[in-house]
Amino acid sequence: MGRTTTPKYSVTVSDGRYAWTPMGWDGRRYGTPTDASLARYVADMNASFAPGGSNAHLGVTGLVAATVRHNVANGAPVARWSAFVPCTIPDCGLSASLGRPVTPHSHPRAVS
Ligand SMILES: [Zn+2]
Repeated sequence: MGRTTTPKYSVTVSDGRYAWTPMGWDGRRYGTPTDASLARYVADMNASFAPGGSNAHLGVTGLVAATVRHNVANGAPVARWSAFVPCTIPDCGLSASLGRPVTPHSHPRAVS
């Protein structure tokens, strides 16, 4: 293969179970890291966990968080993704179930 170059960015993911080693950000495939391109990356990784996927053997159901950073020590984050989003529903089911407002809290991100 050709020369290897140090990726400009690294991506760290969490599934709430394993300690994941940071991976190089594939800028050729995903472009500049943004919250949107990171969301595409996460969608591809989650697909790889499904039966028949390249990571199906890991037994992971899905990522809960991901962060892209400059690939240097203590690199600053440039993009973030979370499986949970802050609740913006004034009278959501959680509040109703507790009989009082619950703020702030979050919900699983809707699958689109
Ligand atoms: Zn809520």
